[in-house]
Amino acid sequence: MKKRKEKSRRVLGIRGQIFLGFGGFILVILILLWVFQIALLGPFYRTIKIAEVKSSAQTLERYLESDQLEEIAGRLVSSTNTSLVISDELGRPYVALKASDKYVRLEQITTRDLREIFEGVNLSGGTRMETYRSGENGSFGSEAEEILYAKTVRTPGGSNRLILLESELTPVEATVETLKVQLLCLTLVMILSGSLLALFLARRIAKPIVAVSDSAKALAQGNYEIRFPAEGSREVEELSGILNYAAGELSKVEGLRRELLANVSHDLRTPLTMIKGYAEVMRDLPGENTPENVQTIIDEAQRLTDLVNDLLDISRLEAGVVSLSRTRFNLTASIRGILTRYDKLADYRFPFEAGEDVFVFADELKISQVVYNLVNNAVTYAGEDKTVTLRQEVGNGRVRIFVSDTGEGIPEEKLRDIWERYYKVDKEHRRAQVGTGLGLSIVKNILDLHGGSYGVQSRLGEGSTFWFELELAKEEES
Ligand code: ADP
Repeated sequence: MKKRKEKSRRVLGIRGQIFLGFGGFILVILILLWVFQIALLGPFYRTIKIAEVKSSAQTLERYLESDQLEEIAGRLVSSTNTSLVISDELGRPYVALKASDKYVRLEQITTRDLREIFEGVNLSGGTRMETYRSGENGSFGSEAEEILYAKTVRTPGGSNRLILLESELTPVEATVETLKVQLLCLTLVMILSGSLLALFLARRIAKPIVAVSDSAKALAQGNYEIRFPAEGSREVEELSGILNYAAGELSKVEGLRRELLANVSHDLRTPLTMIKGYAEVMRDLPGENTPENVQTIIDEAQRLTDLVNDLLDISRLEAGVVSLSRTRFNLTASIRGILTRYDKLADYRFPFEAGEDVFVFADELKISQVVYNLVNNAVTYAGEDKTVTLRQEVGNGRVRIFVSDTGEGIPEEKLRDIWERYYKVDKEHRRAQVGTGLGLSIVKNILDLHGGSYGVQSRLGEGSTFWFELELAKEEES
């Protein structure tokens, strides 16, 4: 108990896992949102703005000698909110456009300034970019930062031009503040709705599993009547189906086990009582010490031996510890040999319809056991004519042996069950009929080991025909 507790502490339950998974997922999304929206917004905006200003300068450069210059410049100014001045190398401006009516440095720039800028920029490679604080409030309320970009160009016509652009690097602090509030709300909503969803999902998934697990505990404690609820997900439904099947099988085995115990103890007790009774009579009454009475004791001892042997056989076969020692042997002759042992049952007849002798590659001792069991059953359940007919059929490289009787037959719905261990059609225990309900189960196990097949046809009141089939031995098998 203590051990189990320790384990459950280490391994998280389904609910915990779903919670953890959901929590992790929401956390990652929130972190991504915060990083991109808050921390990286400034740098992103800056990069984009600078690229935009540079690209505007390039566009203007292309139209410097065109009639459309003013029109293009006008469009640029209004679409990108940029102010611009274009001058010649002496600082004489010939296009000057202002973005909006707020403070711009370009407005106060003089011809001299322009000329100096031209010379400075020209010397330092043709472009210059600088940013400065305008000291005024930008579009979002806080102090604006401006970008000033200068580029000198020599037109194809041979004249020098200075393109000067000024644009507001809109401060994003205000935006960031707005976003922060928004994200805070979003974070709260996500945590709340995520928790609710996780709770709901965990309940839905865990509930049927917990129910199945409770039923399984009951099953483990020996309640084979328990049924597993088939609801929830498909997997749980499948699991329940399998467990229901297992519970059904267990309950069947349990029933058979109880029956066997009752039958076996009855079967053990009866011969023992007889042996003890006869022995006591022989001890106390001198006249009773006859060969017949001794034979009865021997017969009863034999019955006990058979029973114990059957039990041992089946448990070894089922445990899978039995290995076959296959040899090539004459099956037809072997069956003939077995039938001679029934000679002492003088009033029974055992006709055997066999064609030519056939050979199989199998465990002779175990196959004899199969034949014995089938013939024994046929004798036990034989009809009025007291005849057990055996027939051999050969074809397709296989041999099939039929064992038929004309007895009571087996009800159709029981035909499948008789191969199960401990199964008896007639639940009333009949001592006259030898057998433990293990015979056919031994037959089945032996033939399964050989890879052979087997079956039965039966009609109530008309008799039964049991058969088994083995592969014929190939010439090289010896
Ligand atoms: P048992 O040792 O009781 O004969 P088996 O496993 O050999 O056990 O057979 C299982 C049950 O199948 C038997 O109890 C009997 O009800 C039925 N059965 C087997 N062979 C025959 C047969 N030839 N005719 C009628 N019933 C049969």
